[in-house]
Amino acid sequence: DIGQCLLHRYRHILGLWQPDIGPYGGLLNVVVDGLFIIGWMYLPPHDPHVDDPMRFKPLFRIHLMERKCATVECMYGHKGPHNGHIQIVKKDEFSTKCNQTDHHRMSGGRQEEFRTWLREEWGRTLEDIFHEHMQELILMKFIYTSQYDNCLTYRRIYLPPSSPDDLIQPGLFKGTYGSHGLEIVMLSFHGKKAKGTKITGDPNIPAGQQTVEIDLAHPLQLPDIENLRDFSELSRIVLEVQEQVRREEQEREQRQEGEEHSQQAASQPASPLGGGGGGEGAEGEETAAGAEGTTQDKAPASQPFVLPMGVISRNEDYPRTCRICFYGTGLIAGHGFTSPERTPGVFVLFDDDRFGFIWLELKSFSLYSRIKVSFQNAQAPSREAFDEMLKNIQSLAT
Ligand SMILES: [Zn+2]
Repeated sequence: DIGQCLLHRYRHILGLWQPDIGPYGGLLNVVVDGLFIIGWMYLPPHDPHVDDPMRFKPLFRIHLMERKCATVECMYGHKGPHNGHIQIVKKDEFSTKCNQTDHHRMSGGRQEEFRTWLREEWGRTLEDIFHEHMQELILMKFIYTSQYDNCLTYRRIYLPPSSPDDLIQPGLFKGTYGSHGLEIVMLSFHGKKAKGTKITGDPNIPAGQQTVEIDLAHPLQLPDIENLRDFSELSRIVLEVQEQVRREEQEREQRQEGEEHSQQAASQPASPLGGGGGGEGAEGEETAAGAEGTTQDKAPASQPFVLPMGVISRNEDYPRTCRICFYGTGLIAGHGFTSPERTPGVFVLFDDDRFGFIWLELKSFSLYSRIKVSFQNAQAPSREAFDEMLKNIQSLAT
């Protein structure tokens, strides 16, 4: 049976994939849909509407029931399906090719192609976007991504494995990234750390990089309600924890060195991880205990939340209560991923489907909202396979 043969041949490409498209990345979902296997590219909603559903458009389809084995069509452009090709390069990697790229061209030339792309990607015209730097970024993305003409190489990505102890369900989120618009980030849990990995990226921080890291061992107590708007107060609290984290890392390193040099590490006065040991130890313990209570049993208490004065948010429509905050770091870099640096910040958990990150040095705020799509064939075969995948997409980005 021919359908069977094709399903067999292409069943390896079902699931989630990330295209290799410079810093931009992307999210492709390959599914069986009636008589076709279809590759859907998932796009974030228009900036800054982070709670809106994802958008998707087909990039290719494979006929399952045709006489000619393996008819592949390119769906890129606006002139309907045309001749394409798919090559399975190796396990967890395949590439697509369009054989009729003239089908991508528009009668109005580049100008019309750009305007159409802009309307789809941003839901706006260039005249609507007053910010000059943003116009440059948009133009750059169009020029860069359109040159591929749907000839792309894809690498498999997995959804993060979950465990009952996780703060919230891990998974994919849409997040606001200032002038770069909305990007797709994968939240995963790794013991006392949570990681946000970029599935789509930009010229500053490319896809594959770890945009935020959350230190679950260091919950943060936000300033009192009357000082919530005071940026310097929040800044003071975060930098204090940063200092504490630095000290603990030092102590751990010294302890390790000590253990290497003499088997007897008992001489170290340092308390075990998380114990604090510094002057504000009591305060640290108090917040840690509070966090423990919230992450485990009972429904978490909510506390008022408002962004400090001077912190810029793309979306003023962020939640005004939160459950818990943690110390974290966010990756910033110049164009072309030059001089990357992890800078201190605040991870804010709003509810099961939304979180935020305050970038202290940038004085900006990112709001993340869960992508509520149930992707099939996307589970990692093991935690090791997932970790390996994260490592691979990160190394490819640099
Ligand atoms: Zn094509």
